[in-house]
Amino acid sequence: MNRGYKFRIYPDAEQRGIFAKTFGCVRFVYNRMLSDKLEKKKSVTPAQYKEKFEWLREVDSLALCNAQMNLKRAFENRRKNPKHFGKPRFKSKKSNQSYSTNNQKGTVRIEDGKIRLPKVGLVKIKLHRQIIGTIKTVTITKTPSDKYYVSILTEYENQVLPIVPKKFVGLDYSMVELFVSSEGERADYPKYYRRAQKRLRRVQKKFSRSKKFGSNREKIRVVLSRVYEKVTNRRKDFLHKLSTRLVNENDAISIEDLDLKAMAKHKCGGRFSFGKSISDNGWGIFTRMLEYKLKWQGKSLAKVDKWYPSSQLCSKCDYQNTDTKNLSVREWTCPKCGAKHDRDVNAATNIKNEGARIICA
Ligand SMILES: [Zn+2]
Repeated sequence: MNRGYKFRIYPDAEQRGIFAKTFGCVRFVYNRMLSDKLEKKKSVTPAQYKEKFEWLREVDSLALCNAQMNLKRAFENRRKNPKHFGKPRFKSKKSNQSYSTNNQKGTVRIEDGKIRLPKVGLVKIKLHRQIIGTIKTVTITKTPSDKYYVSILTEYENQVLPIVPKKFVGLDYSMVELFVSSEGERADYPKYYRRAQKRLRRVQKKFSRSKKFGSNREKIRVVLSRVYEKVTNRRKDFLHKLSTRLVNENDAISIEDLDLKAMAKHKCGGRFSFGKSISDNGWGIFTRMLEYKLKWQGKSLAKVDKWYPSSQLCSKCDYQNTDTKNLSVREWTCPKCGAKHDRDVNAATNIKNEGARIICA
C-alpha cells in the first residue's frame, strides 16, 4: 500500500538556489519536449538534451526523467479520456514550481531530523508525523508565497485485514452543507472561500491596479497567494478532522458516485453558480480522504451509481415517489407506508442501504 505525507521544509540560501535551478531545468525539459512533440519531431530523451544543453547535467537527473514521465502521462490521459483531461500545456514560471525525484537505495532519507535529497544535501524539515514505510518518490514544491514543501510517497506492507462491516453510514452530497448523513448529521460546512472572498477581492483589485513591473506588485502577489493558501489549508484541516471521525465511527461508508465536473458547469440563477459552491466545498477532496483512510483500517467505501434514484425511493418500503424530482420538496410522507421523510436523510439512508448491498454482495 502507498501512503502520502506532506511536510514544510526550510532550505538555506544555497539549497534554495539549487531548487530554483532544478525547477528551471525541469520546466525547460518539459516545455522543450512538449514543443518537439507538437511539431511532430522524433521523440527525444533528457539524456539527448544534455548533449546540447550542458547545464542540464548540474541538476538531479531523476527530476528530468520524471518531467518526461509526467508529460508522457499527460498525453496518455488526454488520449484515454479527452473529456476529463485538457491538452498538455506549457509550464510557466508563474505556476507552482516543483520537481519529483526517486529514492534509490537511500539517496532520499530522513537523517538527524532532516531530509537528505540528491544534489541538495540535508534540508531542514518539520516532521509533524512519523513516516511509515519505504520512501519511493518525493516532490519538492515552492508555493507562490515562497514556502517550500516536500510531498513524500511511501510503500509499506499492509498488515490490515479487511473487516466484516457491521456499522454503515450513507452520505448524501449537499451543495451547501457538504453532506447530510443517514444518521441525520449535517456536516455544517464553513464557507471559508466566500468569507475570505471580500478580502481576496480587495487584494485582487490592488494587484490589478499595481504597475506591471513595479516592486509593489510582487509584494501584493505574495499577500494574495497567502490569503488563498490560508483558505485552502483551513478547508483541508476541516475535511481531515471530519473524515477521520467518520472513518473511526463506522465500518463502511457509502456515497453517490457524482460527476462534479459536469455539475459545476451547470449554472443556476441567483448570485452564485453551482460551480462556485461545488468547487468551494471540496467534496472531491473529502471523498478521496475517506477512501484512503478507510483502506488503512481495512474498511471500505461504496460508490452508488449516480443514476440510482436515492431521493425518490422511500427508505422504508421502496415506493418510488417521482414528486421529489422537484428540489423544493424538503419533506414528504410516503403514500404507501405512511413514513415521514426528511428529503436529505431519506436519500442518505437509501445510499447507505444500497452501499451495504454492494459491499455485501
Ligand atoms: Zn414507504
